[in-house]
Amino acid sequence: MLIEITKDLDQLAFAEVLEKESGTDVKKCYQCGKCTAGCPANYLMDISPSQTIRFSQMGMKEKILNSQTIWNCIFCETCSTRCPQGVDIKGVMDGLRRMAIRQGIRPKAQVRNLEKAFKDNIKSFGRVYEPGVVLDFNFRSGNILHDVIYFPLMLIKRKISLLPHFKRTAEVKRVLRKAFQISRKAQEEAKE
Ligand code: SF4
Ligand code: SF4
Repeated sequence: MLIEITKDLDQLAFAEVLEKESGTDVKKCYQCGKCTAGCPANYLMDISPSQTIRFSQMGMKEKILNSQTIWNCIFCETCSTRCPQGVDIKGVMDGLRRMAIRQGIRPKAQVRNLEKAFKDNIKSFGRVYEPGVVLDFNFRSGNILHDVIYFPLMLIKRKISLLPHFKRTAEVKRVLRKAFQISRKAQEEAKE
């Protein structure tokens, strides 16, 4: 891959800004690649986790903030746990996502569909009901039969349940409402 090295001071300061946003120092990374090797979502990313850290060190802000990587990270923390340098890569992904949102960058429709399906599911049941998330996501994406062949096998192996279990739905709704209010307020303040 051809990499353009910048001498732009604003871009070079990006690592510092990111450090404040994510609470971790990307400069400590020595590119061992352990984060990328363990990442279960790497196949969905256009820039691998270790590349994201390297590009952050190099101040390649536009490339990172416009990547699909920051939206396809599932925040599992495998990378942060494996890093020998203590770099919190998951925290970096989280910070980058917040920075992108503040700049008005939005993920592709598929990511937004999954987010909506997930949020609505939690609101309805108080916890994740996996078949519900998949069905809702398939409806929104216009591909209703996607992955349904796995359903019977997962049911037999008890990886999913046929019916949802409701769990403190009123309480969860209240928490979500509060979280959305805080997030909206933070976004408005960031715009000012
Ligand atoms: S595991 Fe840590 S040191 Fe290794 S490439 Fe990833 S961020 Fe860098
Ligand atoms: S937190 Fe994100 S980047 Fe890290 S291993 Fe999980 S999916 Fe990959």
